[in-house]
Amino acid sequence: MQRSQRMKSVSHMTTEDSPLLSGEHSGIQPKMSRRRNTTEGSANDSQLESTNSRENVSIMGSVTEPGSLQKISSKYESLDYDTAENTLYFKEQKSYTPEERLRININRWVIMFIIGFVTAVIAFAIDISILLLANQKYTLIKKYIDRCTSGDCMSTPFSLWVALDVLFVLIAAVLVVYGEPVAAGSGIPQIKCYLNGVLVPHVVRMKTLVCKVVGVVFSVAGGLACGKEGPMIHAGAVVAAGVSQGRSTTFNKDFKMFEYFRQDHEKRDFVSGGAAAGVSAAFGAPIGGVLFSLEEGASFWNQSLTWRMFFASMVSTFTLNVLLSIYRGDAMDLSNPGLINFGTFEGQTYSSYEIPLFCVMAIVGGLLGALFNAINHHLCIFRMRFVKKNWVRVIEVLIVAVMSTTTAFVLIYFYQDCKPIGAANISRPLQFFCEDGQYSAMGTLVFSTPEESIKNLFHLPETSYHVATLAGFAPAYFLLATWTYGLFVPSGLFVPCILTGAAWGRLWGVALKSWFPAGHWGDAGSYALIGAAATLGGVVRMTISLTVILMEATGNISFGIPIMIVLMIAKWVGDFFNEGLYDIHIKLQGVPLLGWDAPVMAVGMNVSDIMSRKLVCFKSVEKDKTSHHNGFPVVDYLGSADDEDPPASNTPATFGTVRGLILRSQLIILLKQKVSACLACRVFIVYTYSPRVVSQGEGHKLKLKDFRDAYPRFPPIRNVSISQKERECYIDLRPFMNPSPYTVNENSSLLRVFKLFRALGLRHIVAVNEYNEVVGMVTRKDIARYRMWSHRGQIGLEEVHILEA
Ligand code: ATP
Repeated sequence: MQRSQRMKSVSHMTTEDSPLLSGEHSGIQPKMSRRRNTTEGSANDSQLESTNSRENVSIMGSVTEPGSLQKISSKYESLDYDTAENTLYFKEQKSYTPEERLRININRWVIMFIIGFVTAVIAFAIDISILLLANQKYTLIKKYIDRCTSGDCMSTPFSLWVALDVLFVLIAAVLVVYGEPVAAGSGIPQIKCYLNGVLVPHVVRMKTLVCKVVGVVFSVAGGLACGKEGPMIHAGAVVAAGVSQGRSTTFNKDFKMFEYFRQDHEKRDFVSGGAAAGVSAAFGAPIGGVLFSLEEGASFWNQSLTWRMFFASMVSTFTLNVLLSIYRGDAMDLSNPGLINFGTFEGQTYSSYEIPLFCVMAIVGGLLGALFNAINHHLCIFRMRFVKKNWVRVIEVLIVAVMSTTTAFVLIYFYQDCKPIGAANISRPLQFFCEDGQYSAMGTLVFSTPEESIKNLFHLPETSYHVATLAGFAPAYFLLATWTYGLFVPSGLFVPCILTGAAWGRLWGVALKSWFPAGHWGDAGSYALIGAAATLGGVVRMTISLTVILMEATGNISFGIPIMIVLMIAKWVGDFFNEGLYDIHIKLQGVPLLGWDAPVMAVGMNVSDIMSRKLVCFKSVEKDKTSHHNGFPVVDYLGSADDEDPPASNTPATFGTVRGLILRSQLIILLKQKVSACLACRVFIVYTYSPRVVSQGEGHKLKLKDFRDAYPRFPPIRNVSISQKERECYIDLRPFMNPSPYTVNENSSLLRVFKLFRALGLRHIVAVNEYNEVVGMVTRKDIARYRMWSHRGQIGLEEVHILEA
């Protein structure tokens, strides 16, 4: 009663169609988003009450504007993490002998081994390629720079430097823009979505892997402010998705292996392992890898999966270690566990009284992270609005490449911070305008790969950098990094954040010593490490996994406590202003991601407020209607097949008693295979596609294998030919449908349904009334439309649009 009153009172004030306001929902239609505001910092009872009142509903700006965060795109389909326990499934399960079950389990471990191994080989290939290309590039440019230390011929090395970088970056951009756009960026947001249960188109395809791997080599070697570590996570996930299927759909090659794993939930587990193996190879952090998958993605978790993921991570880091050690000439060395090497922090310590100083750095890191995210967010909106054509995208990348190189050159040119080469362990000392026997300190930061620069900032002796050098480099690199992330090239976010943070962290350490020379301060490199952690935490807002990743990468457990504290504080400070960068990018794309927690302020909202009521029924008078939906309740139909659509009203129309749920992909296979029908079947499809299907053959002989063979690229329905005669036939869906789909009572709370979706990784939930009759449908998009927001201490609930792709 209360609810209907509320809905009534709100619906009369706006003409917009919204399930929240009118109780109706007619499929995918853009709706204005609303925010339910609270004016205080926390959600107490009275505020929760007030979310349901009319005064607190405010209408947001137009969502059709590209770059809006208040939207969900219908182009993202969900993955089916629920097992359809149908007749075929039970038949197959019963047919397995204990030996076969054991074989399946062993295969799981074998696949994880292959994933770890292949991921490490890819990491090795990326590392060596970048090393070779960057070495060639810098050696050539250095030759020209060394030839003209007088300064009047610097235009030659500068032009050469720009030309080489533009060429490298052009290759990366063309691969991504014209090859596979989903290979842009780090890929972490996309993998996060995949593990959450959303399929980002083409995200785990072979072509994506090739574009990503080759692209990242050229974007890093091309001097962009980006790293190769993030893309490794994406690469690991693609390897996992490919290896676990035992075939390549791209090359149309089926190795007839691992057929059992050709289903979404099995594949998801391997993708979690692949992402963990990617982190492990990137940072030499096997535990960090497992925790990364846990913290950032995995919608499903259990002990044996954790073990398998850990196994993949271990294999990955060990294989990479061996390969790199062999490459560096000492196979027994085994001191190269990851792509990025922070070096050993032996002897670099801190004192307990410095922890408050680290906390201040954490606050700075949080603020910088929030600034980074805000700038990048606005840049992305700009790109979405104005950088749409492919050639414009390539041009933007080239502009950034020229700017990055020019900045590097200008910094070396103007900052004449010369240091004696002496015992300094620098791989490519650049003399530039310095005296003989000296090198340019700025050169160690900008005339090398970002990984080398990080190591220099962490480990070069105290006096290696002048304050002005660090003060010039840190903001310049920060701005370049904000501009670079989101370009149409593969680019990781970790390294630019670490490098920027290491620069200002070291600056802080050096400044402390010069301001308070009497104090006993830790090493400048320690401050660089804390600055790196603070900036990284402020941008990506990960805590547990990042702590472990950084600890494993530094190899010094004593830095554990300050890193933990710093990451926590940086996250809190950053969260006060905006979300983590990955989440911002996910929202910009309109992905229906479900967060960890239900939107608590949606308390009071029920399934009937959010469900689709106008389920299009199967009608004999309708033929060839099309539907984009992917799941259809199967019911015992109560009314006449010729009935019109049930009227949409606040009194829910019923569609018959629920008997099961059938997926679009299953129907397509049934139609394709011309499954014979029994006309006596009383099962009716609530289904908008092709009514009264299908043939009159002998009796179906379909097996689960037929469905798996078609997985994951089910043919589009337009490719399935159905004759006129077949259109008059019926099909018995009972052996194929999921006979026990998750159903909820229409009066269940949204919070409860959210938990079901999140915990079980569901795609559809059928809403039923007290007689178990279907009254509606709820999908992930219906749930994801209700989001909590928080900004500067205020929190609220907003309802966002579902937009047609
Ligand atoms: P997926 O998440 O894989 O795309 P889907 O295509 O079945 O699944 P959505 O795209 O999430 O469904 O649904 C978009 C809207 O359509 C939602 O509001 C949902 O409630 C509604 N909807 C889903 N299935 C049906 C159906 N069989 N009949 C009518 N409406 C449906």
